Amino acid sequence: MMTEKVFYQDSYQKTHRSIVVEKLDGGVVLESTIFYPLGGGQPGDTGTCATAAKTYRVIDTRYADDKTTIIHLLDTIDLAAIDLGEPADLELDWERRYRHMRMHTSLHLMCHLITAQATGGSIGETESRLDFDLQGQAVDKETLTAAINELIRKDLPVSVGSISDEELDQNPGLVRTMSVQPPRGQGSVRTISIEDTDYQPCGGTHVQRTGEIGEVVVTKIKSKGKQNKRFTLSLVNP
Ligand SMILES: [Zn+2]
Repeated sequence: MMTEKVFYQDSYQKTHRSIVVEKLDGGVVLESTIFYPLGGGQPGDTGTCATAAKTYRVIDTRYADDKTTIIHLLDTIDLAAIDLGEPADLELDWERRYRHMRMHTSLHLMCHLITAQATGGSIGETESRLDFDLQGQAVDKETLTAAINELIRKDLPVSVGSISDEELDQNPGLVRTMSVQPPRGQGSVRTISIEDTDYQPCGGTHVQRTGEIGEVVVTKIKSKGKQNKRFTLSLVNP
């Protein structure tokens, strides 16, 4: 059953009331959610889920095998006290999620500055990484750090849009990370654009303006295999 993704339109909503529709694989499925499920290099959200009987910890959020149902994994496997159809109140671990948003947007800025194909990436609370198949392009830490921070200081607006499957198929270059293919088959794919810089399909949660990221620093550039270089980026003030 497809879960309505409230975080797609509003990544800043911290609390949300929904309805329990299913118990699945040690977790609960609600009609709609503000919790981001693990994917695209961004970790699943954590927080709390309160039902009439009890307030549970949500220890992770994942997609079910169908890739459209979102499961809130709880700190217990005993779900007997939860009734289908009852209301549930979600609350995000907001500080953690907001760091993920700042980091995710900063990686899109890095993606804009390094023109090579990204081959993978992972977002953490204060440190993230992106791998690129540089094909000989020379990039140094100091120059890249300065360029990302300049785009952050410009406080560029970040906006959510969508692109049809057909348009995306005609513009395969929009997919910047080879290992993260957007989910085609629902007619359209969500996009994130940062004014005058980066535009790409992305299902992640982002800040509204680049200024919210605050200063970042490229701490490491390391070889990963023959062609790949791994770039590590950290928030200066988490
Ligand atoms: Zn993204």
